[in-house]
Amino acid sequence: MRPLIASVDLAAIRHNYALAKRCAPGRRAFAVVKANAYGHGAAAVVAALRDDADGFAVCSVEEARVVREQAPAARILLLEGCFDAEDDQSAAELGLDVAVQGVEQAERLLSARLARPVNVWLKLDSGMHRLGFEEAQVRHWAERLRGAPQVAEVNLISHFACADEHQHALTGEQLEVCLGLQDVAFDHRALANSAAVLSLAPAHMDWIRPGIMLYGASPFAERSAAELGLKPVMTLTAKIIAVHEVPVGDSVGYGASWVAERPSRIGTVCCGYADGYPRQAPSGTPVLVRGHRVPLAGRVSMDMLAIDLTDVPEARIGDEVELWGANVSVDELASACGTIGYELLTRVTARVPRRYQ
Ligand SMILES: *Cc1c(COP(=O)(O)O)cnc(C)c1O
Repeated sequence: MRPLIASVDLAAIRHNYALAKRCAPGRRAFAVVKANAYGHGAAAVVAALRDDADGFAVCSVEEARVVREQAPAARILLLEGCFDAEDDQSAAELGLDVAVQGVEQAERLLSARLARPVNVWLKLDSGMHRLGFEEAQVRHWAERLRGAPQVAEVNLISHFACADEHQHALTGEQLEVCLGLQDVAFDHRALANSAAVLSLAPAHMDWIRPGIMLYGASPFAERSAAELGLKPVMTLTAKIIAVHEVPVGDSVGYGASWVAERPSRIGTVCCGYADGYPRQAPSGTPVLVRGHRVPLAGRVSMDMLAIDLTDVPEARIGDEVELWGANVSVDELASACGTIGYELLTRVTARVPRRYQ
């Protein structure tokens, strides 16, 4: 079997969820498990959190079905709401909470005949301008939806654009817009993503929506997950499958972009960009072998990558290589590649088996 595995530490997810809850005492939390639980496997993650989580959040009815199988009684929020009339029916049948983010969605819901009413989360566009109504429209729709036969609770939801940036002006402005609706009698309010859970107590409201922090990655560029008390969840581990002595002046890999400046020992590792390791990772990006951080050498291929083992002469074929995990954080790798941990985690491909601990 190809020795490449994404190990997922379910106890670490529970730890991170508990940390999110401690940040917002007394509030409830939707554990965000969209995108296959950020690449970790939604069924296993939901099963691990079933007894702890107050609810789950996903981005489609298809994702919600996976959650519902594991958590028959949980609240499950559709973050973008229903995409069509069939979704409206499914949401009612599955007992989902639905965001309502625009006029089309709202009108369609009010013209549907549903098996039972759904909890609605009216989306306020507080400044991100991606989804949602402006304040006056929220007031209008809150009134129209309240008491409609399709609707149980009427709740308020909004989303921050810059909560990950320290004291960004837009965050305060967005919070002000949300607080401008304090006089409307919503059943519940939910504003906070991980960044706001960790750094913006006034935004905690009734329900928080932690995502990335559950998976042990940081929403902030400037603060590491470890500093925040989060435990890493996914470890991507491969093995060295070949070792080559490369003389000075010879190159390694596609494009011959890496050239040996000293007699070098190059290890070939069975993980490539078709597994989700980023092709943009530059030479020098660290991986862990036998407790040592060693640098990538040359371009990442589809199924393999090369590392410079010269400084770890004891390294052998068959040695494990941590591509990311507790020692090389996914955030560190992401920042070396000009992206964010979210993208790397969600891009681990289907051919990488997930193993749960
Ligand atoms: C994905 C998502 C979240 C979770 O965001 P994180 O930054 O991963 O915590 C919260 N709310 C909404 C609306 C989302 O789409």
